[in-house]
Amino acid sequence: MPHSCGHGDQADQARGELESRMQESLAKIRHKLLVMSGKGGVGKSTVAANIAVALANRGLKTGLLDVDLHGPSIPQMLGLTGFPVESDGDKVMPLSYNEHLSVLSMGSFLPNQDEAVIWRGPLKIGAIRQFLGDANWGELDFLVVDSPPGTGDEPLTVAQDMPGVRAIVVTTPQEVSLADVRKSINFCLKVGMPIVGVIENMSGYVCSKCGNTEDLFGSGGGEKMARAMQVPFLGKIPIDRKIVESGEKGRPLMEDGQESPAAVAYGKIVEEIVERIVQHPQAMPETAIKQQTAASKKDGVMRIAVPTAAGVLCAHFGHCERFALLTVDGGKIVDLSWLTPPPHEPGVIPKWLSQQGANVIIAGGMGSRAQGLFNQYGIKVLVGASNLSPEALVDQYLSGTLQTGENVCDH
Ligand code: ADP
Repeated sequence: MPHSCGHGDQADQARGELESRMQESLAKIRHKLLVMSGKGGVGKSTVAANIAVALANRGLKTGLLDVDLHGPSIPQMLGLTGFPVESDGDKVMPLSYNEHLSVLSMGSFLPNQDEAVIWRGPLKIGAIRQFLGDANWGELDFLVVDSPPGTGDEPLTVAQDMPGVRAIVVTTPQEVSLADVRKSINFCLKVGMPIVGVIENMSGYVCSKCGNTEDLFGSGGGEKMARAMQVPFLGKIPIDRKIVESGEKGRPLMEDGQESPAAVAYGKIVEEIVERIVQHPQAMPETAIKQQTAASKKDGVMRIAVPTAAGVLCAHFGHCERFALLTVDGGKIVDLSWLTPPPHEPGVIPKWLSQQGANVIIAGGMGSRAQGLFNQYGIKVLVGASNLSPEALVDQYLSGTLQTGENVCDH
């Protein structure tokens, strides 16, 4: 049975080749960390840069990848602005900050610092994949990824394309930041990304003259929130003028000013991260993800998955480009997100879709074995649907007019 996806062989081949270069590159990286935050301005990039420098200072081979395509600040923080990125003839060479730390950022590819990147999701996803597949990172102990705030395409691409990546979530103690960071934690649970822990930044101000601590934005809110959400808490970093100065100078705090209260706090946090990752490789038990998934299914909301290619249903779910995941509440579509599936192997997609909270799949064709697997994960299967947009298919399903029937799959 021919596939009715309609995407060209050449595009398929190019995607497959990049995929295998990514796998080759990622196989040489032992530990991957994604630094996330719910809000901008909480110090996420500063934390990513200082963690990377501190890891490198311990003699660990470290990479720092800045996937904040719209506001790349890592080159400025590390004094690498204006240094051109070179290639070894085959792959891009990340900039060398020192013997142990290499850095790659969108900022290094922009002709001037004030240039705005105006890209839609697919372009951003493509750029991040190239940062992984077409950059020569070599052998690394740690790759630290700085993502833009929120739960958009960038952290999603990293979560889906970097097997084994774990999240570090940065917040400030204020409720406005905590509210958004809860979303980041729920995002990690949904996509099945283990969380190393939460860092509370800008937690109190230590007076440089008398040494007393003053709680400017409050303190301890991040710790309380982490406890309530049952994720580890890694520590607090106080407000420190030296952090601002070091960021502007292009020499991170962990390079200079080791004796300041913030540098001491960073030291302890990095110790904790290394301890948790190297000594306890299984960061979040599978059961925690399963409990979360079960909870999201009980809330009466329907999540309908549709395999797609070029924006419409793709008859062969195992080879689709993206899954559309539509959330239906009160009989209406309230949300539509696009997810890149993991590589197709028996049983992988049913489990993954279950982790995304799906409880229905509308497909063109599907073998009976796959149908059985979806059912095992509590996902209802509808086969034989036509090549329409996901919204049209779900609207038809909700109004009882969805044409299903003959399974357009021969295996
Ligand atoms: P984000 O990546 O979350 O947008 P940044 O890392 O760019 O945030 O930090 C925003 C600003 O806050 C920068 O000027 C940075 O120097 C400053 N900053 C970050 N952490 C601290 C801290 N602990 N004390 C003082 N200033 C900080």
